[in-house]
Amino acid sequence: MVTIEATAREAPSTPADDRGIVPVAELLAALSIGTPCSAEALAAALVEMESVPPIGFRTVGAPAQYAERLAVELGRPDLRMRARLIQADVLLREGAIAESGRVGHEVHAWTLEHGDDYLVARSHYHLANFFRHAGDFADALAHAVQAVSGTGDDVPPGIRARHLCTLAITLHENGSAEEGSRRFQEALDIATTIEDPALSLQVLNNMAYTAYEADEPDEAEALATRMRGIESRYGVQLGANYLDTIARIQMMRGRYAEAEQTLRPVLDGSAGHLLTEGNALSECLLTTVDAQRLRGALAEAQATLDAARRVCEERGLASQRARVRQKQAELFAATGRYREAYEEHRGFYADAQALLSAQRDARARALQAVFETEEARRASERFREMAHRDALTGLHNRRHVNELLPALLTRATQLAAPISVALLDLDHFKRVNDTLSHETGDVVLKQVARLLAGAAEGAGDQALAARLGGEEFLLIMPDADAATAMRHCERLRRAIGSHPWEPVTGKLPVTASIGLTTVPAGQITPSALLAQADRNLYTAKRSGRDRVVGDLC
Ligand code: GH3
Ligand code: MG
Ligand code: MG
Repeated sequence: MVTIEATAREAPSTPADDRGIVPVAELLAALSIGTPCSAEALAAALVEMESVPPIGFRTVGAPAQYAERLAVELGRPDLRMRARLIQADVLLREGAIAESGRVGHEVHAWTLEHGDDYLVARSHYHLANFFRHAGDFADALAHAVQAVSGTGDDVPPGIRARHLCTLAITLHENGSAEEGSRRFQEALDIATTIEDPALSLQVLNNMAYTAYEADEPDEAEALATRMRGIESRYGVQLGANYLDTIARIQMMRGRYAEAEQTLRPVLDGSAGHLLTEGNALSECLLTTVDAQRLRGALAEAQATLDAARRVCEERGLASQRARVRQKQAELFAATGRYREAYEEHRGFYADAQALLSAQRDARARALQAVFETEEARRASERFREMAHRDALTGLHNRRHVNELLPALLTRATQLAAPISVALLDLDHFKRVNDTLSHETGDVVLKQVARLLAGAAEGAGDQALAARLGGEEFLLIMPDADAATAMRHCERLRRAIGSHPWEPVTGKLPVTASIGLTTVPAGQITPSALLAQADRNLYTAKRSGRDRVVGDLC
């Protein structure tokens, strides 16, 4: 059977509500009138934009672009990324799924590298929505879980509620109804506590639509009643999407006339401002066709269907256009025109098939675009990693040490912790190369590298082994005082000297000299530190090799 999904849930077709939208526009306007913009003001505007419900997405596109420029001027890449995520969300709701996914993944990669918890959670939230739209529900769920678990107590509660709501939807889409309902309830509790009617309506509409899809009329109706309650209590008007949900629920009970009545404001244009975009009008028209047909008003149903057909054609709504054919077939059948019903149904079936394959293509393209971005990122990470590794031994290289050592010294200073470095040079290594071969020398270097890596593992989480070049190695031991570092170095020296070299070098021994130095609290430059280690190494060489020389020796 071919079905085309009609998504009242989270569809981008109901009104932009007032809450959260005017303040953003005003704030950004204020920022633009020459007043110097502070990062705090921009961050506040971004929270406002992030709090706009999905139905208001159109209102944040331009402000988010402007916010991105401000963030660049302020030199705040984190705020810029937040502004980009908002734009990615707009792209998603406009149907530019692939582009949206690309931007979302770029921001996500940035956040992982720069570790801003809030932004990590936001980008997971965006990716959850992206994967839902791309039809990949499992990945959507994985990201939704991360979005919620990364949303700490310091995040505005309304935003936490939106993350919970997306998690609830993805749980339902993955068949975990109970878990999903629990998350919906948590989101609703937050919305109620902070008295945010737009948020409450968003959550309730999703809950109601979920109950409708699960064929639970009691539950669905109770939720629809609550939506109406919020409407009257706060004097907000329900958007077309929400009215469509309520009408469908009324039809579950056979209350067709009532359903028609519910949708009346959308159809007669008296609620024109409730329709921001897209497919809301045609969706409501199609629901009305069902209501009219089922209550036996076939001529009215036909007139409504004709109107729906016109709307679909005007706006190029392919999937609704196919559903118009489906409903036309039902109407023909209801009036006994079976031959035409059959023909129309065949037409619907062909349209729907074509549409499904087009949708599948679009989804595949969207996922492919993201995959390529991910691949490119991983490749560049791989290249960067390679640039920091020594090709022969796989240890970190001098470039890595040069980049890392200043940070390790700063850390030592901040923690008032000691840091030790050991410079290791193999003894008479030329002999190995000259009497055996360069290849044999390489085998020795690789084995020494393994022993050094083992020593680094034994010297704590932060310890690092590197090959600086030739047969010269470095062991960095943050937090190790002189005595501890000396023990590590002695153990390493013995491990090298007592390694069973015979199968590799025959009678030639392999030993190493080590120059060790320690600073009590990191207050030294990297080059002065290495120079001191080098002096100690020179002393070790001069006093007979195969030994460790520290600062006090
Ligand atoms: P000393 O005890 O004074 O350090 O004597 P040494 O022979 O080790 O002297 P030196 O450190 O000056 O020699 C380093 C030698 O290491 C020179 C070169 O042949 C060898 N070497 C440098 N890089 C490599 C390499 O990648 N592979 C091999 N096999 N040998 C290398
Ligand atoms: Mg040397
Ligand atoms: Mg040497």
